[in-house]
Amino acid sequence: MRHIAIIGSGPAGYYTAEACRNIFGEDAHIDIIDRLPVPFGLIRTGVAPDHQSIKAVSRRYEAVALSDTVRFAGNVSIGRDISIAELQELYDAVVLATGAPHDRALGIPGDDLPGIVGSAAFVGWYNGHPDFAGLAPSLDGSHAVVVGNGNVALDVARILSKTPEEFTGSDIVAHARDALSHSNIRHITLLGRRGPHQIAMTPKELGELARLERAGPHVDPADLPEESADALLEPGVRKSVTLLREFAATASDKPVTIDFDFFAMPVAIEGDGHVERVVVERTRIDEAGNSHGTGERYTIDASLVVSCIGYQTPAIDGVPYEHGRGRFASDEGRILPGLYCVGWARRGPTGTIGTNKPDGVMIADKIAQDISDGAGKEGRAGLDRMLESRGVDVVTFRDWQNIDAAEIARALPGSPREKFTDIAEMVAASHKS
Ligand code: NAP
Repeated sequence: MRHIAIIGSGPAGYYTAEACRNIFGEDAHIDIIDRLPVPFGLIRTGVAPDHQSIKAVSRRYEAVALSDTVRFAGNVSIGRDISIAELQELYDAVVLATGAPHDRALGIPGDDLPGIVGSAAFVGWYNGHPDFAGLAPSLDGSHAVVVGNGNVALDVARILSKTPEEFTGSDIVAHARDALSHSNIRHITLLGRRGPHQIAMTPKELGELARLERAGPHVDPADLPEESADALLEPGVRKSVTLLREFAATASDKPVTIDFDFFAMPVAIEGDGHVERVVVERTRIDEAGNSHGTGERYTIDASLVVSCIGYQTPAIDGVPYEHGRGRFASDEGRILPGLYCVGWARRGPTGTIGTNKPDGVMIADKIAQDISDGAGKEGRAGLDRMLESRGVDVVTFRDWQNIDAAEIARALPGSPREKFTDIAEMVAASHKS
C-alpha cells in the first residue's frame, strides 16, 4: 500500500488525487488535507461568485472525494497541527497543492495606506474566505483604481459595478452583497502598465463588461495600435483586442464608468491617513513588449485601490523556495523524491482551472516513478492518531456535506447557497460540535 498526502483541496489538489487514483487504484490511500473545514480552494474562494458555471467543476471533485481510497481531512493546518516533516514520516509522497494565496506587494511609496487592498484579500472578502471576511473595503468614495490588466482585475471591476439585482443567482456572501449595495463607487479605472496588445484578459470575461446594467467600459481610441497589427496576435488576445476596439467605438452613457487606462504605471499612492490618489507614470512599450516609464506623470483620484498584480505561495520552513517567483523550487514539480508541488505552488499564478489537470497527471507520474510499492509507512492511521492526540477536530467530506446542505438550506431564493464565513460556524454546521 502506498500512502499519499496532498496539502490543499483546490483544483491542483483534486486533479492530483484523481490522477493518483487512476494510476494506483486500490493500492494507494490518498489524503487531501486542507486548513479550512470546507473543500475546493479557489473554486470556492477565488472564482467570482457570479461565475457559477465555472464553480460547477467542484461536482467532479466530489466524485473523487467520495471514492473509497481518497479522503478529505479539513480543518487541519500545516505548521499548527502537523508539520511537513511529520507528514513525510507518515506518507510515501507529500504533495504541496497550496496555491498562491498571498498578494504580491505593489512595492511603491504609499502602498500600505488604508484603502489599498490586494486582490487575494478583496476576492476573499466577497467570496467569504474566513481570513478576509472582516476586510470592510472602503466603498464610501466615488473612485476606485484597479491595478492590473488580467482576469482578476476584470472580476474586481465587474463585482464593484454590479447592481444588487445582478447578483441574483450568485453565491456572493451577505456582508459583500450588503456593502456593495450601499457602494458610492461610480468611476473605476483599470490601470495597465502596458497596452491593449499585452492584456491578459480573456474574451469571454472582457465581453461581460459590455453587458452590465449600470456600468459601461471606456477605451480611448488613441491607445489602440493600428488594426492591421492585430493579425500577429494569438487568437484569444486578438478577440480581446477586437472587444476593446468595440468599446472604443461605442460611447457608453451608463452612470458607472470603467475606464481602461493603458500605458499607465502606478508609481506612488498618496493620501492623508487614507488613499486619496494614485500617481501614475506614462509608459512606452519597446519592441519586445516591455514597458518603460516616460517621466510624464499625472494623478487619478482614488478612495479605493485594489491591486490585481498576481499572487505568491507562502514559503514553508525547510521547503526550498524561489523567492523571486513566489513559488516552491522544484524540478517540474519534484522538490525531492517523496515531496512534490503542483498547480500555482509549482508554476506560479498562471493558467485556468483546467491547466491543473495535466499538472496533476505529471505529478502522479513522478510519484509512480519514485515510490514503487510503498515503504510500509503508517499513512492515515498515523495522521489520525497524531491529530487526535493534539485535539484537532478533523472535518471529513461527509461532515462537509452537512455544511454544504446547511449553506444551501439558508440560501436566498434563486441563489445556490449562503456561505458560512467563519471557521467555528463551519465546524458547527458540520455537526461535529
Ligand atoms: P495575470 O493574468 O498575471 O495579470 C496580472 C496583471 O498585473 C498583468 O496585467 C500585469 O501586467 C499586471 N502587473 C503585474 N505587476 C504589476 C505592477 N507592479 N504594476 C502594474 N501592473 C502589474 O494575473 P491575475 O489577473 O491575477 O490572474 C491569475 C490567473 O488566474 C491567470 O491565469 C488568469 O487568467 C486566471 N483567472 C482566470 C479567470 C477566468 O477564467 N474567469 C478569472 C480570474 C483569474 P504585465 O502583463 O505588464 O506584467
